[in-house]
Amino acid sequence: AKFHGRDNFHFFNFQLHKDADTRMALEVELRRAVQDKEFTLFYQPQIDFATGRILGCEALIRWKHPEKGLLSPYFFIDTLENNGLIVPVGKWVMEEACRQCLIWREDGLGRVDMSINLSPRQFADPDLLEHIQTVVNKTQLEPNQLEIEVTESLLATDFDYAVTLLEKLQEMKIHIAIDDFGTGYSSLSYLKQLPLDKLKVDRAFVMDIPNNNDDKQITAAIIAMAHSLSLKVVAEGVETEDQAAFLKSLKCEIGQGYLYGKPMSAEAFAQLLKTERSL
Ligand code: C2E
Ligand code: CA
Ligand code: CA
Ligand code: CA
Repeated sequence: AKFHGRDNFHFFNFQLHKDADTRMALEVELRRAVQDKEFTLFYQPQIDFATGRILGCEALIRWKHPEKGLLSPYFFIDTLENNGLIVPVGKWVMEEACRQCLIWREDGLGRVDMSINLSPRQFADPDLLEHIQTVVNKTQLEPNQLEIEVTESLLATDFDYAVTLLEKLQEMKIHIAIDDFGTGYSSLSYLKQLPLDKLKVDRAFVMDIPNNNDDKQITAAIIAMAHSLSLKVVAEGVETEDQAAFLKSLKCEIGQGYLYGKPMSAEAFAQLLKTERSL
């Protein structure tokens, strides 16, 4: 009992203090990073299970930190979301990903579908739709080449508003995927109220296939339900041939994961396209 009380309080307080300091330092650094344009996009291939060919990719942000090297979004995306910097950074992601699509096309690499993550905060930006339209026009992208990935958390705050925006995106012929499916708290009933094209099964369900029977059952149920709603299914985090075979047996349409390629630079992705498309 002696050790509890004050000592613990100090320890706890210190931790709290340290965390607040770290958070503050990260914020300051992120503001600088936005100004100095230290972000870059990596691209992870998405594979058509039926043909084994590359359909497109998901754009994933990285921070080229001057000292710490390439940082994963796990270190900074929440902070960007909380302080609102995700709005300008997200606009840059949209521009950069679409610009990259144009470059690949001009380099004769063919059609590449592009999936882009949009966070809930970006949906609160009144310029969102106009900005997307401008980028699509400028890069002469086929709107149906572009896919927006949204998570269930988008629907938590203002469901009706989210639906209205998604419907406008659908009118623009942009595809919509529900990301990380199965990890949120939402009920399944909302799915049929949304103008969705695809559902992405979260990696958490895929990773222990084929050993975990529960995960196999859940994955099968999610895929069957998606198909009954006429949604295509993307399986995330496909790492093994066994997982791919199981997913294919369930008529899952698209695979994404280390088995087909880790997120990579635009140059590396272009090389992969050249090889697979025999260009
Ligand atoms: P996410 O949208 O679920 O993206 C998939 C994550 O899983 C990526 O992590 C990817 O590298 C990782 N992954 C893909 N295949 C495999 C696999 O086979 N095995 C394993 N272990 N991991 C795999 P990443 O790139 O670190 O991104 C993390 C999250 O950050 C993303 O999760 C997404 O929520 C967010 N994010 C990334 N880029 C952006 C962006 O431009 N805007 C917004 N708003 N969020 C982004
Ligand atoms: Ca995603
Ligand atoms: Ca995901
Ligand atoms: Ca995920």
